[in-house]
Amino acid sequence: MTEPPKEKKDAHPHHRISFPGLHLGGSKASKEQPQNPYASLDWKIESPPAVMHGDPENSTGALVSGQLLLDVKEEDGLEVEKFEGHLDIHVIQKRPFAGHCQSCSNQVTQLKTWTFLSEPTLLSKRIHEFPFSVLLDGHLPASTDNSIVAIRYDFTAEATPKTGPAIKIAKTIDVKRSVQVPEIPHHSIRIFPPTNIAASVHFTQVIHPVSTNTFNLRLDGIVKHNPDAKSVEYWKLKRLSWKLEENMETVAPACDKHAPKDAETGLPTKKGAKRTDARTIAHADMHSGWKSDYSPSGCIEMEIQCALPPSAKAACDIKSRDGTEVTHQLVVEMVVVQEYAPTAHPKHITPTGVARILRMHFGVVVTERAGLGVSWDNEAPPIYQDVPPSPPSYSCDVPYESVEDLTLARQSQDIGSRAQSPAYEEHPPFPLSPDGH
Ligand SMILES: [Zn+2]
Repeated sequence: MTEPPKEKKDAHPHHRISFPGLHLGGSKASKEQPQNPYASLDWKIESPPAVMHGDPENSTGALVSGQLLLDVKEEDGLEVEKFEGHLDIHVIQKRPFAGHCQSCSNQVTQLKTWTFLSEPTLLSKRIHEFPFSVLLDGHLPASTDNSIVAIRYDFTAEATPKTGPAIKIAKTIDVKRSVQVPEIPHHSIRIFPPTNIAASVHFTQVIHPVSTNTFNLRLDGIVKHNPDAKSVEYWKLKRLSWKLEENMETVAPACDKHAPKDAETGLPTKKGAKRTDARTIAHADMHSGWKSDYSPSGCIEMEIQCALPPSAKAACDIKSRDGTEVTHQLVVEMVVVQEYAPTAHPKHITPTGVARILRMHFGVVVTERAGLGVSWDNEAPPIYQDVPPSPPSYSCDVPYESVEDLTLARQSQDIGSRAQSPAYEEHPPFPLSPDGH
């Protein structure tokens, strides 16, 4: 579907920006409910944890199914006028378009509604079960909570009795995504002109939030014979540092009140502000740990363990249609210094005074472990008749005006990092592999 999402009017009553319930998954209530003495409402999820298998383009989505349990405690039964429920995708902007505006901070899009009872019904004293199910389309973003945006799936149901307060339930469904880890590590070769150095790396492109991943590196072209000058030049590796960067971005849409008005129609325009943040979730600085061979066809080899401890709190990669994105890249930086020796006296090694920083960027995907889970279409959970043949899609392809030029942003980043290391000449790597930056 291409129409913009319907924003619900009840997005306004949310008064908190952080929701502790987001972390609790589907098993605990996210809000306190007023008590109704005559009946209570609970739920029982029967489907496996909601995991989207595969990337947004190819995933068949996640099926959530369960029962609502309406426990009527009154001996004479309870007359219920209606009983309805809905599932919303709730985006919470941490840096909203207009600060302190609840409408700018909360975007709520209804994914599914249920009518369990549409007309007044007398329910006897017992637990009444109302099945529900929803197929979450594979392109929908996983639940997330980072410094600029949170995405959660809010399930609410409400039974309206003829007398007394409404009987409500509010839960969050934790939606995860698991992208398959390739069995063979990715191989990439980077060269660093004007040196002859070539880096051959093997690394895991898809990693898990808590994991240790091996990065194999070999540097060739570190020995160069100059027959005319009767000398040999060497590149010595002095330092290697790596870091795993987490980049977050989202578009904080303006609510109708805060959106600039169209000059001709006077209607609010679709406008949003790009929000970005970045952090380093793991890093290491190494001054040794590699094998160096300075024979004529010598090379430097090393195996690096890139550990992501639980304290890193790595967020999984996300790309949603409303502009929210979480990506990761591994940045490897090597300091090499040049030395030379006369061919006749190979032991008389002298520094030439030239040093360089060799920098490489590798895109990596952080994803949930698939565990024992399999895609919903490969198993047989309970499916109720209300599973829609074509699930609702959360579409937000709004042409926001204030989106920055990514090319410019990247250039300015490069200039910034170059300014931090004035001691060395620096040559950005020239990527040979299609994944290069
Ligand atoms: Zn606003």
